[in-house]
Amino acid sequence: MKKSPIDSKIAGQRNEKMILTMLRNHGRLSQSQLCKLAGIGSSTASTIVARLRDKGFVTETRGTSSNRGPKPTIIELNPKCRCLFGIEINPSYLFIGLFNFTGELRDKIRIALGADHSVQHVIDLMTVNIPGLLTRNSIDPTEVLGLGVAISGSVLSDGWISLSSPMGWKNVSLKEKLGEFFDFPVFVYSNRVRLLAEIALKPKLESKNILYLNNADGVGSTVYMQGKLIFGATGRYGETGHIVVDPDGPVCGCGNRGCLEALISGPAIAAKIQQDLDNNEEARCFAPHFENTGALRPPEEIVTQLEKSAQEGNSYAIALRDQITNHFGGVAAALINCYDPDIVILAGYVSNALYDHLSDEIRNRIKTSVYESNLRKIEVIPADAGKDALITGVANAVLQDAVVFR
Ligand SMILES: [Zn+2]
Repeated sequence: MKKSPIDSKIAGQRNEKMILTMLRNHGRLSQSQLCKLAGIGSSTASTIVARLRDKGFVTETRGTSSNRGPKPTIIELNPKCRCLFGIEINPSYLFIGLFNFTGELRDKIRIALGADHSVQHVIDLMTVNIPGLLTRNSIDPTEVLGLGVAISGSVLSDGWISLSSPMGWKNVSLKEKLGEFFDFPVFVYSNRVRLLAEIALKPKLESKNILYLNNADGVGSTVYMQGKLIFGATGRYGETGHIVVDPDGPVCGCGNRGCLEALISGPAIAAKIQQDLDNNEEARCFAPHFENTGALRPPEEIVTQLEKSAQEGNSYAIALRDQITNHFGGVAAALINCYDPDIVILAGYVSNALYDHLSDEIRNRIKTSVYESNLRKIEVIPADAGKDALITGVANAVLQDAVVFR
């Protein structure tokens, strides 16, 4: 069947993305290495590389040759051809990263949100700080490839945020609102793009089937199978945090009762401890975290204190930690049964603080609750990309999505 012009355009964009991703992962490559990796012929490669060169995305130089043959053409990304923004929104702060075209972080700024979590406040902070970062780095707005924002919750494929429980946002057209201020393309993602930062850090993960479990202000999962992130039919994929594990449990931001997120996320743990302060002697060691303004201090500090108190033998902390571990382990085993990963990555500040217990629990559950576990080899590892993981993951998603616009 003959290809239509639209088919050819899509195929061309896909090829350009593929070559850019390879160059990002491998650094510089000769044209023959590129052909081998991509499984394409040299004339196809030349055409794609010429298009990318015309857009300013790659440079070509002559390499050296050990024999008398022609010198190879070396292709590499042009790091300064464009810049882009990777942004994280969470209840504690707005984190804006400015990246170059190779995905390297050039500058960043973290702004505390305070008590005002409104959409307008977050947009106001962005519209002041993004131009500020460009000025500080002497970058003209025309050089910006795109801007990506990630938030915990359900984000549909058109950038519509249907629910972000941690932010208390429902039905927010963030992409549209930001599009009114900025001339460059805007993308909105759920924070599952964080996994792309792990892959950028460890390219060997690219060939693995990964289950990525995040527990921080929200709880969610990401699945990376056969070389790509899975998004589902409506963008609501991976809402692990809204699996009901205790129908009599606390009310969740989604309206249901006893969701995993309402029991084991950072804010849920902090709220539970605050509730128990007056009626549990052992919980009183947490009181300083709730003093002064009466407002919750960042849940991350409280979760860190939970692990410290449990290690010191505090019976309340040990019981609460066991409860969290138990809920998390049960859901993790169910997801492993569903998705058959060979690697499970535990991410987020709650997973980080309680890593030894959570990872041991998952290994135990694999033995007791996972189908034919004796025939599988499933590795459980911590996320490594650190505090910059989400903005780096967003930047990598923008690098894949925005190149088709230019
Ligand atoms: Zn829920």
